[in-house]
Amino acid sequence: MISRIDLRGSLPADLRDVLPRAELDVEAALEKVRPICEDVRHRGAAAVRELTARFDGVELESARVPAEAITRALEELDPAVRAALEESIRRARLVHRDQRRTDTTTQVVPGGTVTERWVPVDRVGLYVPGGRAVYPSSVVMNVVPAQEAGVPSLAVASPPQKEFGGLPHPTILAACALLGVDEVYAVGGAQAVAMFAYGTEECRPVTMVTGPGNIWVAAAKRLLKGRIGIDSEAGPTEIAVLADETADPVHVAADLISQAEHDVIAASVLVTTSVELADAVEKELPGQVAATRHSERITEALAGRQSGIVLVSDIEDGLRVVDAYAAEHLEIQTADARAVAARVRNAGAIFVGPYAPVSLGDYMAGSNHVLPTGGCACHSSGLSVQTFLRGIHVVDYSREALAGAAPYVCALADAEDLPAHGAAIRARFDWEVPA
Ligand code: NAD
Repeated sequence: MISRIDLRGSLPADLRDVLPRAELDVEAALEKVRPICEDVRHRGAAAVRELTARFDGVELESARVPAEAITRALEELDPAVRAALEESIRRARLVHRDQRRTDTTTQVVPGGTVTERWVPVDRVGLYVPGGRAVYPSSVVMNVVPAQEAGVPSLAVASPPQKEFGGLPHPTILAACALLGVDEVYAVGGAQAVAMFAYGTEECRPVTMVTGPGNIWVAAAKRLLKGRIGIDSEAGPTEIAVLADETADPVHVAADLISQAEHDVIAASVLVTTSVELADAVEKELPGQVAATRHSERITEALAGRQSGIVLVSDIEDGLRVVDAYAAEHLEIQTADARAVAARVRNAGAIFVGPYAPVSLGDYMAGSNHVLPTGGCACHSSGLSVQTFLRGIHVVDYSREALAGAAPYVCALADAEDLPAHGAAIRARFDWEVPA
């Protein structure tokens, strides 16, 4: 059901060559996505309607979801789901509120200051996936940090669902209502990203698009980056578990399965020092998979080349492996898990010990679940308040402070053969560089 890679003994120089990972060919998807984006750019709402009919099988009258549909979805929401969403929002707000930055002013010289002012982007388009599974939790994870950053205008797009009259899933609409978001579009895939980037008759263009999605969404974000800001490319879900003989195989198997449930190309990787644990997890998987609803999808994900059990000699090597893998989600299920977790350098989010499974982080830990995948955790972070802020340097110098800097500016301008730079300083001092 799941393959095994034995790295006991010495580790290869480039671990990334041997570790399981999906070949997600976003570059190849770009060629398919380019005409979709061009079509939306040139023909606006009509193109969005036609592409939605083609890819989602839904004939849209208008992409914009009527306000009554959003209100009705909240009224009809199962009270238990409403309570869970409210608690998820409350916890996420606690964490994201603490991420807010305060402006800093540095006095560089007397009379010369640089202030870093944090300013939210003007308008954000938040993509909420809705192909294979629907993700009301992603509404929370996208909207809360944007709101806490102070973004003044937010719009949500999520694919239309045939069984719900061409609207996004009602739980997604209800989550929008709970968060006070009333601008929602029943559009998915690359056409949603293009609608946000270029704007249509129905949707004003945005400055930034965030949120996870499938390969078409990721390709459209990559293509339109620059015209719009994007967060990281949060692609198919990944879990890595670093475990030793103290881990419970039932828990480890359940956690590997939980993330494989997302997608046939989702990755579940166990890195362990214990052959006994590896054997026990392998023995545990078939029974748990058979007992769950999406067993076909999970079986395919676990059997895929992106999933596997990696055997290592000790925790030191285990840490090298998980750092090289840079998982979106990393669980540490070892003795002294906190100490081991503190040494991890690359991961989207780290889940410490036996009572912090990834499922907790998906919904209710307070942390964000939109995280870098595909190894990008070695250079990128998950969605946060910072994602939506720009730091603007405000430079404020008096005449005396500029006089103090003038000889240095002129010397460097001459060294770079950019004399007009120096002239802009001299002009303020009757063309004499102050001594
Ligand atoms: P999705 O909303 O991302 O994509 C569905 C849309 O894709 C459809 O509306 C359709 O318009 C478009 N599409 C489908 N087939 C197409 C084709 N052949 N050509 C062009 N466009 C096409 O939903 P999904 O497919 O369920 O994917 C969601 C992804 O998001 C999963 O891979 C999941 O693992 C991932 N995810 C990641 C995170 C994270 O934080 N990393 C969180 C949640 C979900």
